[in-house]
Formats: sequence, structure tokens, C-alpha cells
Amino acid sequence: MEPRILDGKAVAGRVKAGVAREVEAFRTKHGHPPGLAVILVGDNPASQTYVRNKETACREVGIDSEVYRLEASAPEEAVCRLLRQLNEKTDIHGILVQLPLPPHLDARMLVEAIRPEKDVDGFHPLNIGRLVTGEACMIPCTPRGIVTLLERSGVSIAGKHAVVVGRSNIVGKPVALLLLERHATVTVCHSRTPDLAAVTLRGDILVVAVGRPQMITGNMVKEGAVVVDVGINRLDGRLVGDVDFESVWPKAGYITPVPGGVGPMTVAMLLANTVEAAWRLTGGVPALAGRRD
Ligand code: NAP
Repeated sequence: MEPRILDGKAVAGRVKAGVAREVEAFRTKHGHPPGLAVILVGDNPASQTYVRNKETACREVGIDSEVYRLEASAPEEAVCRLLRQLNEKTDIHGILVQLPLPPHLDARMLVEAIRPEKDVDGFHPLNIGRLVTGEACMIPCTPRGIVTLLERSGVSIAGKHAVVVGRSNIVGKPVALLLLERHATVTVCHSRTPDLAAVTLRGDILVVAVGRPQMITGNMVKEGAVVVDVGINRLDGRLVGDVDFESVWPKAGYITPVPGGVGPMTVAMLLANTVEAAWRLTGGVPALAGRRD
């Protein structure tokens, strides 16, 4: 059977259309759109590109985005002061600090300074704790994007064996929790997992977030598996994932392309988190809010 592409770009387009409708409803009710504040410290070129993409995406759906560009040498107290101001601003509903930060800044402390209700990246410990206990919370964008892509593509998760390769706080661990909550049996692998292929070969769903170009090859994938490639790597001037698409494609039942798979979903979920935060902070209930299943 031909593998089916998990078309993140198309699904993200549908998510964005829904967000745009909620933004419009919010604007009608409150007289102004939801607002997202992005703090960018320094001039890391990749971060600048990510922030530009976020601004463009906000514009597409009508969210008002404000980017605060600070010098690489900005003192921690200045960033904290800005966060405190943004926490109080009633026209700002989402706040994110673009990572990575220059080494003199304590990313953990700064993320903790964001009001949890406005933490649209879902990195605040309160949101992470609620994710662990399965309560409604701000779900990190990439993991939320992955499960949304699966669900909207008609992939069933309950009862499946999901293997996650990578245990980072922003992708591997939270996506494992979301899959567990949806009743998958979850195995998480990392750099100390012996005989990785023996584990990945058992995955009905295989999520790969490692950051090593084309590391997962066809001989490591179960026949008919659903393969989600989170990796974004530059190789010989082009973008490739952590999955070797050519050799995995013939084995997979479903597979995400890179680019056009998880990446667009991540941005779409940032927009969804922002509009949902806006509704919650103003006492309303958005149609998408708290949708976990
Ligand atoms: P990360 O923080 O570097 O974590 C990588 C994980 O992979 C770690 O848990 C590491 O294990 C594990 N690992 C490394 N080498 C391994 C090996 N040989 N075998 C098994 N596991 C191995 O990376 P991340 O932030 O999760 O990002 C992963 C990839 O996703 C990157 O390419 C990144 O650019 C991409 N990404 C994409 C999006 C998107 O929107 N598409 C969003 C975020 C990230 P240890 O814990 O043992 O070190």
C-alpha cells in the first residue's frame, strides 16, 4: 500500500482558518484582537527567522503581535521588568521568550516569570505540571501540533504502541505524555538506549525528535508504521529531518515530510494557544479550548 503523507501544511491551514474565526469573534466582542508579545534577545539568525515567521503567521489570522528586540547584552533585570509589564498588559494575552538566550540569562527563571495563563509556549512549570496530571493547560506547541496532525489525519492513537525517540523538555517528554493521555502504550528512547532499532521496530507510531539528520532508516521502522519526523536539519544546503525519508517511505503507512510536516503545525498551535489564552483571560470560552481528545 502507498504510504500516506501526513500533510502538516494542509492541516495547519485548516487550524489557522479556525483560529482566524475565533480571532474575529474575539475582536467583535472586545473591540481589539488577541495580542502576542515575543521577546527576542540578541541576533541569533535562526531565532530571527523563527520570530519573523511567527509575526507573519499572526498577521495571517489577525492576531496583533509585538516583538521586543533587546540587545544581546540586555541585563536579566531588564528582561524581567519587561515580562512584569507584559504580564499586566490587558491587550497582551500571550507572551513568549524566544530561545535560546544569551548565556548570561537564566532561561528557566525568565520562563517562570511569565504569567502561566499567558505562557503560550507551555514551558512554565505550572503548565508542565498540569500536562503531567492531565489537567487543562497550555500545551507546548510542537507536541500539540504532532497529536493534532495525527488526529486530524484520522490516525487512531488509543491502544497503539508509540515509540518516541528523544526526551527533550520541549518535544520528546511532552509528546510522550500527550500520547499516553490518548491511551497509547508509550516507550521513550534517548542516547543511552541500547539497540535503538529493536525498540523503534516495535512502534506502531514512531515520533522522532533527535536533531540528527536522517538517523532513522527503513530497517528501523515497522511495516505500516505512522512515522512523525520532528527534526529540522540543514544538510548540503537543504532541509532534512531526523528520518531518512527515502528508505522509510516504502515501509511507512503514514509519514510526515520535512519541510511541510510538523513545522507548520507548531506555528499553527502557537496561534491557537494565543487565541485560547485571550478568551480564557477575558472570561470567555473559545470553541477550541481545552480540546484534548
Ligand atoms: P534536543 O533537546 O537536542 O534533544 C534531542 C534528544 O535526542 C535527546 O533526548 C537525546 O538524548 C536524543 N538523542 C540524541 N542522539 C541520540 C541517538 N543517537 N539515539 C537516540 N536518541 C538520541 O532536541 P529537541 O529540541 O527535542 O529537537 C529535536 C529536533 O527537532 C531538532 O532537529 C530540532 O530542530 C527539531 N525541532 C523541530 C520543531 C518543529 O517545529 N518542527 C520544534 C522543535 C524542535 P539524551 O537526552 O540522552 O541526550
